[in-house]
Order: sequence, then C-alpha cells, then structure tokens
Amino acid sequence: MTMATGAAAPSESRLDGRFSALAALTAVPHLDRASIEVHAPFTGALLGRIPRGTESDVDAAVQVARRAQRQWAARPIGERCAVFTRFQSLLLERREEVIDLIQLESGKARRHAFEEIVDTAVVAQHYAVHAPRYLRSRRRTGALPILTSAIEVQHPVGVVGVIAPWNFPLILSITDAIAALIAGNAVVLRPDVQSSFTALTAASLLYEAGLPQDVLRVVTGEGHELGPALIDRADFVMFTGSTRTGQVVAKQAAARLVGFSLELGGKNPMIVLPDADVSAAVDGAIRGAFVGAGQVCVSMERLYLPAALHDDFVEKLVARARVLRIGPAMDYSVDLGSMTSARQLAVVEEHVADALGKGATLLLGGKRRPDLGPLFYEPTILTGVRPGMLAYAEETFGPVLAVYRYDDVDDAIARANDTRYGLNASVWSRSKRRAVDVAGRIQCGTVNVNEAYAATWTATGSPIGGMKSSGIGRRHGAAGILKYTEAQTIAVQRLMPLAPPPFLREQDYERLMSRVVRVLGRIPGLR
Ligand code: NAD
Repeated sequence: MTMATGAAAPSESRLDGRFSALAALTAVPHLDRASIEVHAPFTGALLGRIPRGTESDVDAAVQVARRAQRQWAARPIGERCAVFTRFQSLLLERREEVIDLIQLESGKARRHAFEEIVDTAVVAQHYAVHAPRYLRSRRRTGALPILTSAIEVQHPVGVVGVIAPWNFPLILSITDAIAALIAGNAVVLRPDVQSSFTALTAASLLYEAGLPQDVLRVVTGEGHELGPALIDRADFVMFTGSTRTGQVVAKQAAARLVGFSLELGGKNPMIVLPDADVSAAVDGAIRGAFVGAGQVCVSMERLYLPAALHDDFVEKLVARARVLRIGPAMDYSVDLGSMTSARQLAVVEEHVADALGKGATLLLGGKRRPDLGPLFYEPTILTGVRPGMLAYAEETFGPVLAVYRYDDVDDAIARANDTRYGLNASVWSRSKRRAVDVAGRIQCGTVNVNEAYAATWTATGSPIGGMKSSGIGRRHGAAGILKYTEAQTIAVQRLMPLAPPPFLREQDYERLMSRVVRVLGRIPGLR
C-alpha cells in the first residue's frame, strides 16, 4: 500500500461558509437546539455542527409535509418529473462541490464519491422518464369481461419516512426519496449525522430545481431518537442500515400496520469459475472488496476460487492490492480512502484479530495507518477463515477479503449460500451461459456476472435489494416506486349484477357460470 503523492490536503476551505448555510436548511429550528459536531474522517478536524432535532421536530416536519403532499400529488406527473430532470442537471453541474462534501463527510476516495453522483443522476433520470409508465392506471379484466370493467389505480401513500446510513451520503439520502416524491408523496428524511451535510446539499438542489420545500423536510439528529419518532408518524418507512436495526424498525412499523422497505447488511460472495479471465477477475475482486474502504453494503467479503486457479489468483490479487494507493486525497491520486467512523474501524479490527487469533492467515494488510489519518486501515486479505470466526459469518463492513478454495461448482454455490445474508453476489466466467446458470442458484437479490456490484446497481430499471436477512422490498425499477403507492381497484359493473338473474334457477346459474368461467379461462388475454 503506497501513500499517494501529490494528494491535496483536505480542508474546509473549498467550501467556506457552506456548512453553516447547509445546517440552516434542516427542518430543526436551530437557535434553541443543541448541536452535534461532525468531524472529517480524513483528519478528525471539525467540519461543522448540525442541529440536534427532537421528537417534536419530527412531528412538526411530518405535519408540514402531510399538508403539502396533497397539492404536490395533484400536480400533473409530467410537472413532478420535470423537477427531477432539472435536479439531475444541477447535480451534474455542481458535482465538484458535492463530491468534495461526500469525501469530507465519508472519507472515501474521490472515484468512489463520484460513483455516487453518477448513480444519483441515473436514478433521477430513470424515474423522471419512466415513472409515468410505472404509475399509470391499468385496465384489468373482471370475471365477466363485458359485464365488469376494472382499473387499477396507484395512489401515493402520503408521507414517506426515509432513514439513511452514513456510507453513501448522497445515494442513500436521496435516491429512495426521489422515487417516493415522483410518486406524489412527501418525504421526511432523517440522514445519518455523518452524512447530513451531503443530504442537505441534495435537498437544496432539489429546492432549486423546483421542489416545494415543504414536500421534502430534512430532520437532522441522532437516529435512535429521531428514527422511532419518524416510524411512529410516517405512512411508509424506507430504512437502510444494519440487519439488527432493521429488525427494530420492522417491529415498530408492523405494530402500526404501515408498510416498510428494508435495505440491510450483506456478507457478499464472489465465485470465480475455472474458465474465468483471471486478470479481469482479480481487478473485479479489488474493486469489489475495497470500494469505499469496504464500507459498502454490496462489497465483496468472501472470494471462492477453484483449486486449479487458487495459487496463481491469490498471488496476483495480493500483488495488485499491495500497490493500491491509499490516503486522504481530494483528487484522483488515490485508490482507497479512509474508514468513516471509529466505531466501524473497531469492528474491522475485532474481526481481523479474532480470525488471526483463531488460526487464519494474513496475506496482506491487517493494520491501521495512523500516519495517513486517524481512521485509515490497510486493504486486508485473509485465508483460512473458518466457522466460529467473526469474519466467517458476520458482516465486517471494511476493507477485508477472505479467500476460500472450493472443490467443485456445487460446493462453491453451497458455501456462497451458507449465510443468513442474501444481498449481492458476483460470478466470473468466460461463458455467459454458465455464469448465468450459477447466478440463478445463488440466494442473493442481485448477482453480477463479470462485475462485482456496479452492473446490477446501475441497471436502474431492474429491482435491487436483499433476500433472507438482507432486506425486505426493493429499490429501482417498477418495484422501487410502486412500493410507495397504495394500489386501488375500481371495478364498474354493467347491464346485470354478478348474481343469478330472476329468470334462472340457482342450479342452472351454477351450471352456466361454471361453463362460462371454464371457456373464458381458455381464451388468451382474458386471464
Ligand atoms: P445502523 O443500522 O447502525 O444505522 C442505520 C441508521 O439508522 C443510522 O442513521 C442510525 O442512526 C439509525 N438508527 C439507529 N437506531 C434507530 C432506530 N431505532 N430506528 C430507526 N433508525 C435508527 O447501520 P449503519 O452502521 O449506519 O450502516 C451500515 C449498515 O447498513 C451495514 O450493515 C450495511 O450493510 C447496511 N447498508 C445496507 C445497504 C443496502 O442497500 N442494503 C446500503 C448501505 C448500508
């Protein structure tokens, strides 16, 4: 691991005055509120303070949003979509400033911060273009087509509560909100403390693009205080975070009988098939394991290699990881940034120490880099990780990759599935057909062929999310917007009711209807 040369020292100066201006955008009245300090992971320096909201701030925000929602939903969908097309242009124009903020708040490398801009822009454009089709009312067939005409109508649920974690300050604060807003809902957003400035920047761009401020309220503060307050009031809860907190959220939302969507943790496997392009797969493993210093829900933590490729692959992997440039650069001179929080760094250290203490072998890394900044940790590669070690089954959420050797493809698939998680997976092969076949046998919401995570994540028309303990519900595509709606069926009956007419005995009606239903069932397009 080399320290990047020429790395610009991160400072607040590029964003002079921006932090206090952004803090003023929160829906928390901050004159009489305590504030929370936000520090830059790169240096530990104070970035700014955000007002610490309370339950009554959440209450007020939901009330304001609820009042504004009706007018917003009454606007033609084309008008709503146009706001997000403008937002996309503004985001791309101002990307340098937003990338700076993402880096300062998260400590991620600039290339990983830029991925957030691309994804957010793509999601905004996707829903701006496709939402009218996803949301339009649809004709449905009734029991007797001429007698009954039915339509399915989508109504916005009302106020959606979005609770976001810190690891994707932009994507996770705003892309789920975009779908909810286009569907005609209002949103109350509680971003993580560590990503509030980026979330507020995104909100300010949306306001500039024409979104009424009352339709999107951002309430800053602690998650364990504001989260439950929001779940108690929202009509739908969109939560992204750990499986443990997701279970708490699900329980609280279920008690109110409001819908929820949970995007949770993962322990993502990458399987290299014997016919894979080794050089491409090594690059993919590096990208997949070390993106965002491994603090990415869809990053790879387990690598399964066939015996025939194992030694050569591992040698190339370690050589490639060894030369990754790591450091606190605000330009593109590094490959890898910092961990974001001392809490997550402690988890990573615990997992690695536990594995090594129980007999795993360290091939690379395994230590902090205080010479670079307070939260830097080296890209780490382990072998010999076994059941009973934390890194075997628990999500590490850091730059740590465990390498395993497998006997045959069935063995690899069984081991990839041997986890309570089911978020993302990756399969590498020169044969698309073989890889797709293996992909279909992996119990994960997304599987990337010859890529680690980006292919599925950016296929915005297709749903992504977790199986098993990795989540409930999906983001992106039709599923990612319809979840914010209530489906309603309106059926109109013509000519006669669905009941025996007065001139027919019940027994004859029974015979006639049975025949009609049987015949209709055989006519294509009617069932
Ligand atoms: P976390 O569960 O600790 O916290 C998530 C958010 O919930 C935080 O902002 C926190 O303040 C808030 N929160 C805390 N208590 C709450 C409560 N009782 N009710 C509501 N909200 C509450 O997770 P984290 O450490 O911030 O994030 C990392 C985790 O998120 C990892 O497990 C990662 O895999 C997961 N994640 C999943 C996805 C995905 O799309 N599946 C994306 C990013 C991160």
